[in-house]
Amino acid sequence: MYIEKGLTYCSSCRKRYAVFKRRTSGEKLCRLCLYSSVVRQVRKALHYYKMIRKNCSIMFLLMANSPLLSIAALSIYESAIRDFNAGITVLCFSKYINCKMIRDIMKADRYGVIEVDDEFTTRDFIEWLKYGEYIAIKIARESNIEFIAVPLYRDELSTLSLFGLLTTSRTVFSEGLPIREIDNVKITRPFYYVVSDDVLYLALTDKHVIELDIGKCEFDEKAEFFKHAGIILRTSPELMYSSSKSVEILQSYVFGEVKKCRYCGSYDISDVCHYCAKFKSKIG
Ligand SMILES: [Zn+2]
Ligand SMILES: [Zn+2]
Repeated sequence: MYIEKGLTYCSSCRKRYAVFKRRTSGEKLCRLCLYSSVVRQVRKALHYYKMIRKNCSIMFLLMANSPLLSIAALSIYESAIRDFNAGITVLCFSKYINCKMIRDIMKADRYGVIEVDDEFTTRDFIEWLKYGEYIAIKIARESNIEFIAVPLYRDELSTLSLFGLLTTSRTVFSEGLPIREIDNVKITRPFYYVVSDDVLYLALTDKHVIELDIGKCEFDEKAEFFKHAGIILRTSPELMYSSSKSVEILQSYVFGEVKKCRYCGSYDISDVCHYCAKFKSKIG
């Protein structure tokens, strides 16, 4: 939520004018304090869920539905992991995003960029996410990358878990978890404590980011559920936090005894979830 500039002081530093009101806490912050606060939220998740290690290799996924937001997220993530001496490789899907442009931008930032150019495309966001992670895990295994970082936010993660619970899809439910592991590869959600509105504001007020024209994919909203759940969760923080809490608690009751997919590490009733079975048959 924007605030008219020059009227209220930032409730954190009390020196600069506030430009943004956080819906989740009511805090009125200047851009710098908002940025630092998001970095702290990322660090909290990294430490609490052990999403990073000194001198490790990380693969960072650019989201096909919100690449500009992912670029803003990458810069926040980099600030959060500064003292870990980690190497970051960015994974870009050229059927959805202009990866050549990404490569040009990233060169200046010393990131390696891997371009994925296979024929598989989908209009279903969850399927894209499962596909993106399938490819990321495959590359991570081949190149000894330990962590995969996926910039999904608290509201999106709650929505994924709720959607998984409502449709009794264990593999979709697992997408909302902060971290999961398969054969020493950890799939992480460093933005587990961050609400998407905060990063969206930071992206929209970053001249370097919004001037890029890298394309994006408009996915079909699954049964409108995502759109509506997203709006409801973002406007009622209590619901968002209590649903992620319930998800954590329910996890052991609902899914405690089930198997894990051997490709993506998600909970499932069989050894391979239906998404990975499909990708395996299409792309190997
Ligand atoms: Zn401030
Ligand atoms: Zn799977």
